[in-house]
Amino acid sequence: HISQMQQGASKILVAVRARPLTKKESAINDKPLVHVLEDKVVILLDPSEDLSVPEEIFRQNRSREKQYAFDYSFSKDCNQDMVYEKTTKFLIEGVLNGFNATVFAYGATGAGKTYTMIGEFDSPGLMLKTFLEVFSRIEALSGQRDYIVKLSYLEIYNEIVRDLLNPSMETLEIREDPAKGVIVAGLNEILATSPEHVISSIRNGNRRRTSEYTEANETSSRSHAVLQIVVEHKDKASGVNAEILVGKLSLIDLAGSERASNTKNRGIRLIEGANINRSLLALGNCINALCEASEKGGKVYIPYRDSKLTRLLKDSLGGNCRTVMIACISPFVGAFEDTHNTLTYANRAKNI
Ligand code: ADP
Ligand code: MG
Repeated sequence: HISQMQQGASKILVAVRARPLTKKESAINDKPLVHVLEDKVVILLDPSEDLSVPEEIFRQNRSREKQYAFDYSFSKDCNQDMVYEKTTKFLIEGVLNGFNATVFAYGATGAGKTYTMIGEFDSPGLMLKTFLEVFSRIEALSGQRDYIVKLSYLEIYNEIVRDLLNPSMETLEIREDPAKGVIVAGLNEILATSPEHVISSIRNGNRRRTSEYTEANETSSRSHAVLQIVVEHKDKASGVNAEILVGKLSLIDLAGSERASNTKNRGIRLIEGANINRSLLALGNCINALCEASEKGGKVYIPYRDSKLTRLLKDSLGGNCRTVMIACISPFVGAFEDTHNTLTYANRAKNI
């Protein structure tokens, strides 16, 4: 499978975002385990130490804490705009020039992935901000170029693909088309003609997302939600022979990365957990392989076929594509293990 071999040169930007403690958490323990220094460094304190010691003393006595450096580290005080500016806005230029890019939020349930990607009514996340900017960039160029912006929104739940823009939510298949690349047969693509239309479509899609209660967190989400924005354009003046540029931006709210064993789940839940891990594991394996390819500069096998998520992203990870990982972490004492695991995962990814 030559098509699955990638030449090197792929680049990944790794950012970490720490959320604030929730009210419920503060009532239990109001000392955060996570500190961010100079927009780069994340310090994870050991919860077995006395957290009532003032911060300055921590800084002098760092024997048991863990430190990590990333391209960007966002503290709890960084708002949606700051995260958007540093992680996603710069990708839009490339997408308008015909390149693909992927942004994904990784982390345990409750760490802030959905807040980052989708956001809330008064603080919209990356999906909406990105779409609005693509839309306004294109409107500004519409005098010289013919444009189409298409949007699709799907979820992968238990290794099954469903269309979040279609209320019937039937199962969809991922295929590879020699001309078009990766396609999801039957997936709705809405023509983005007005921001309002898109905003309401995304909101309706979010309501359809499969998300069920588990003991780990009441807002637990076991599905990967993938928003894809495709921009096609060509010069107005050059007629039928005009070169059409096509770029795709994938924005992904991944399922929780915690292990099934942490949630006391049984039966079907465990099977679901295993499948979620399959897509996440495959994503990690592809990223590691891309890392190897970029170090060696040669041809390396990338195991895209190992899961639905990686099959879908085959044309959007590696090669000329830009990838951004936003690892979301909680500062709560009770989340220490998840936070540690996420920082370890993110730390491995940044070597690409
Ligand atoms: P996940 O999708 O990773 O399970 P959520 O995005 O649902 O986690 O976040 C869990 C809770 O924390 C939600 O109540 C959310 O509103 C809140 N939250 C997450 N990130 C932030 C943030 N950066 N600022 C304020 N609240 C946040
Ligand atoms: Mg979520």
